[in-house]
Amino acid sequence: MDVKQVKAYGTEASDAGLGELSIKRRGVTAKDVEIDIEYCGVCHSDLHFAKNDWGFSVYPVVPGHEIVGKVTNVGDAVTNFKVGDLVAVGCLVDSCRSCSNCENDLEQYCPEWVGTYGGHDKYFNMQTFGGYSESIVVDEHFVLKVPTNLNPAAVAPVLCAGITTWSPLRHWKVGKGSKVAVIGLGGLGHMAIKLANALGSEVTLFSRSPDKTKDAMNLGAHRVIISTDKDQMNTFQGHFDLIIDTVPYIHDVNPYVGTLATNGTLVLVGYLGPLDPMLNSVPMIMGRKTVAGSLIGGIAETQELLDFCGEHGIISEIEVINIQDINSAYERMLKSDVHYRFVIDMASLKA
Ligand code: NAP
Ligand code: ZN
Ligand code: ZN
Repeated sequence: MDVKQVKAYGTEASDAGLGELSIKRRGVTAKDVEIDIEYCGVCHSDLHFAKNDWGFSVYPVVPGHEIVGKVTNVGDAVTNFKVGDLVAVGCLVDSCRSCSNCENDLEQYCPEWVGTYGGHDKYFNMQTFGGYSESIVVDEHFVLKVPTNLNPAAVAPVLCAGITTWSPLRHWKVGKGSKVAVIGLGGLGHMAIKLANALGSEVTLFSRSPDKTKDAMNLGAHRVIISTDKDQMNTFQGHFDLIIDTVPYIHDVNPYVGTLATNGTLVLVGYLGPLDPMLNSVPMIMGRKTVAGSLIGGIAETQELLDFCGEHGIISEIEVINIQDINSAYERMLKSDVHYRFVIDMASLKA
């Protein structure tokens, strides 16, 4: 197997900033696609992982799992892609392919799934490195086709922010007449609003930031509830069929459970860890309500979403940055000052 050194941007420690690194990429094996990375979205998970918020980061960390680029090489047995194709890679680069989750297109729940960064790279027996890099080599099963009618930079966030909110919208069968709420207007939240609106549902944003109201309405929300205002929260008791909670840090989920209708579900996609304060079962029992969780989406579902975005002209609202600006972008993300996804122009790494 050939090995190439490529430029990347990452960090050697939880308290260090990101800077330039050199990483190894394998040459293509039979089923592999080599991709020259043109754009990479900046997810809050990148920041959590770089800072070891979840406690399982292995350094160096090279984040990035919203990747769009062009195919530069394919292995002998690749059938779906050719040199020059515009393609994407999301949060997954491998899985066992034989468990029941893999057989049901739920690779994200495979016990052996390999994350695009921080997963186990079986070729080098070390951690995988993500999209803040010049190129990546990925098995064709995990490579996606990008609709050519969309701005490729603004497609990148579909690969994580989009699919993470699309998967629960589809699983809980959101459509015309559904009442959907989204908590938090950041990367995930803004895609959730656009997608829930395109599916024909009534869309509400819960936000702590009154200054984001106008943007939310422009993105497709029908109303905004300021979550810190008890009167506004009380007005919507028993209202929503599905609430998608994108808040990245520990917070009280209970006030939102009260706003679910009978049989409604609040799905956590943001914060990872024990809840505090604990969940109160009373409003759940008194309305057969569910508090659930959801992880990204499978490969077929991600392709379904990319095709849906192509048909409906849906892209992310982006601020394009150079890789050298990544540390200040993380600082802004910590202040919820993202409008509404940073995307790195990877030409800045190659310069
Ligand atoms: P983001 O762009 O930073 O947006 C998060 C939004 O949540 C903020 O804009 C803010 O909205 C709100 N918020 C932030 N801190 C808060 C707090 N302490 N209390 C209440 N609200 C708060 O982040 P993102 O990229 O959308 O990611 C959101 C979370 O999802 C992250 O934790 C990320 O790791 C996770 N994630 C999970 C999956 C999955 O598969 N489950 C996939 C991708 C990302 P307002 O200003 O409107 O309040
Ligand atoms: Zn992500
Ligand atoms: Zn599997």
